[in-house]
Amino acid sequence: SPHKPTNFLRGIIDRDLEQGTYASRRWAGTPGDAAHHAAGEPDPAKIRTRFPPEPNGYLHVGHAKSICLNFGLARDYGGVCHMRFDDTNPEKEEQEYVDAILDAVKWLGFGWDSSFNGQAQSHLYYASNYFDFMYRAAEALITAGLAYVDEQTPEEMRANRGDFTTPGTDSPFRSRSREENLARFREMRDGKLADGAAVLRAKIDMASPNINLRDPAIYRIRRATHHNTGDTWCIYPMYTFAHPIEDALEQITHSICTLEFEDQRPFYDWLLDKLATLGLIQQPVPRQYEFARLNLTYVITSKRKLKALVDDGVVSGWDDPRMPTIVGLRRRGYTPEAIQLFCERIGVSKSDSWIDYSTLDIALRDDLESKAHRGMAVLDPLKLVLTNWDEVMGAGHLEACSLPALPHPPEGTEAPVRHLKLGREVWIEREDFEEVPPKGYKRLFPGNKVRLKGGYVIECTGCTKDAEGQVTEVLATVVPDTKSGTPGADSVKVKAAITWVGAADGVEAEVRLYDRLFTDPHPDAGGKDFKASLNPDSFKVVKGYVEPSLAQAQPDQKFQFERFGYFVADRVDHAAGKPVFNKITGLKDGNWK
Ligand code: ATP
Ligand code: MG
Ligand code: MG
Repeated sequence: SPHKPTNFLRGIIDRDLEQGTYASRRWAGTPGDAAHHAAGEPDPAKIRTRFPPEPNGYLHVGHAKSICLNFGLARDYGGVCHMRFDDTNPEKEEQEYVDAILDAVKWLGFGWDSSFNGQAQSHLYYASNYFDFMYRAAEALITAGLAYVDEQTPEEMRANRGDFTTPGTDSPFRSRSREENLARFREMRDGKLADGAAVLRAKIDMASPNINLRDPAIYRIRRATHHNTGDTWCIYPMYTFAHPIEDALEQITHSICTLEFEDQRPFYDWLLDKLATLGLIQQPVPRQYEFARLNLTYVITSKRKLKALVDDGVVSGWDDPRMPTIVGLRRRGYTPEAIQLFCERIGVSKSDSWIDYSTLDIALRDDLESKAHRGMAVLDPLKLVLTNWDEVMGAGHLEACSLPALPHPPEGTEAPVRHLKLGREVWIEREDFEEVPPKGYKRLFPGNKVRLKGGYVIECTGCTKDAEGQVTEVLATVVPDTKSGTPGADSVKVKAAITWVGAADGVEAEVRLYDRLFTDPHPDAGGKDFKASLNPDSFKVVKGYVEPSLAQAQPDQKFQFERFGYFVADRVDHAAGKPVFNKITGLKDGNWK
């Protein structure tokens, strides 16, 4: 099995497994899970993690880190990872996002049914399925004197919370009786109070140095139709209350989140401790662990800001190949293997840092180097005419040439072969001809010989130009008996071999050249206006020519265009006979053409 880099979370899991922290666990019966586990049975999973996105947008490369981490830990430790929608916020959530998130997770190579690494469960988890339980938990806290209905205005609540230097002030509603709180909370539930008129707060400590423990709100009134529960509820749990409960009901062992939630951990522990004491959830309770979120240079990973790029038409959609969304990366041509490799390489740490974007491209190249078939494309075409072709090769002759499609085929396999036809007219790259060569120039200029890669040696004789002096055709002669792979191939020495596409069998192609969306490596750091650093050259379309093997590509098939880098047949617009390619990345960093 592949080497798994170790990290602090693996250390924690190793310790828990060694100490048998979760060995005594009995399955408690999560709503929706009944078919798979009978309550009271030993829980067969060694560890349980979860990936809990809010279905309010498309997943991005930061989520990929969390997916690879959570599903990867479950896979490597023979546990399970719950695919859970954290859908407690009725306003922003949509089915479109639910579907897109599931697609993205599957595409990345993970899953939630028995087809994925023998996981026992085969369904999705929705936080909104636990609304009944959450409501009961809230009533139980009230009855235990651990929660109260606060009817201060939001401004009063804010002012009375205090700050880092000042302790908070008790709400005048804090001393309400349990009975009064219970009755008032039920009125909240029954729609007797207006939106925002009251909140339920945990009763902890208004003087706590951790502001998150100064009686955090746990329920709010919000009349909004929920995508799952419809109009059943007009009160909704706050994230900080809902999330620990979701974890506990699903008997998550290691609840892994990003560092912003570190300050929330004391409340997470407080709540689960109280609910366990009240007999509502099982011991041992889940534990929260924090890791540093992914920050990638030249990239923004905020769903809200990404949505703004889509809504404002800065990009063509969530799957624009410049977007750091999973659908965007996919359309651009990044592979699931490359993204997994990237996530493994960047590792997991406890302090924030920036990962250079090149790390992702290096992973892509490492994945595709041995897999992507090679092919030639001409992206800035100039016609080359072999003036003696008909004479020496025969009028209208097309010479069959072949090249390996993979320079290093997998051991024990033969290199796949591409077939091309060389004739009198050929497309070459405009930059491969110079009428007056700069010093050191080795390609075509009058009097110089080069090889057409996989074909013949040719000698440049001149060019034709239009009225403006622009070169319209390069003229050359073919040197007979110099074809690659024949005994005469080395009879004429040349300093360069250039890429080409036959005019007879080449196919016109649309090639979309992408570069980073922002010119600033930290486009939204420190509250900067990310739209101020949009890269005006992030997208360019060229008409080029590709060799037949490329024109026959299936949508989403990846290639290495010799000399240019990695390209993918666009999975939306590419069609046989009408090739459309996206540039994924160059062969080296900074290779932008
Ligand atoms: P946003 O704030 O942009 O809406 P989010 O972080 O709230 O995104 P969620 O849907 O709540 O998005 O995220 C699901 C999971 O993905 C969470 O566990 C979150 O910690 C993790 N996650 C989100 N962004 C990143 C990131 N940049 N790096 C690592 N993990 C991330
Ligand atoms: Mg969130
Ligand atoms: Mg967030």
